[in-house]
Amino acid sequence: MRTRSFCGFRGGPLGPPVGSGQDCAGCGEPYYHDANPCAAVLVEDATGRVLLGRRTIEPAGGRWNIPGGFRGRDETREECARRELREATGCTVELTGFLGHVIDVHGVGGDHTLKALYTARIVAGESVAADDVAELRWFALDATPPAAELAFANAAEALRRLADRQGKESAAHPRTPDPSWSSTTTTGATSPP
Ligand SMILES: [Zn+2]
Repeated sequence: MRTRSFCGFRGGPLGPPVGSGQDCAGCGEPYYHDANPCAAVLVEDATGRVLLGRRTIEPAGGRWNIPGGFRGRDETREECARRELREATGCTVELTGFLGHVIDVHGVGGDHTLKALYTARIVAGESVAADDVAELRWFALDATPPAAELAFANAAEALRRLADRQGKESAAHPRTPDPSWSSTTTTGATSPP
């Protein structure tokens, strides 16, 4: 967690992290390190491949990323998703599904992000890398880059969810059973919390 030095209300010094926040030594107001809302978009083509972009900028420069970005204050998540795709690819997309959220960290020691994962298809334009993307490439879900070449930890989880939705297995990122959801480790309850 990237800590903050000063309170945004009266400029007093912020104390050490307590949980996911810091308390101001001056006015006592807590500063919460909220996860920043983002949208990430898994664009599919007619054969089920997914469009990934290689980042030009830090953090994670040179690594493959699911196109997306930070939500503006006056944007809905869906507006953010379509805008970020337009900026990164030049394409207009139609959102086709929602795969839930993942929590991620924006670079080592960086701020947390809350990413809304959408699926989409291109409805207008030819994809051309732009903005902070060096290269765009379509990947079959059984041939996506390994975790070490993905920009953010939860890109692998997003690709697993997309593979699940397509009824496929993500070869590079196989699903490992979550023991907390497994009926073999609980007595009685078998449904997710
Ligand atoms: Zn203060």
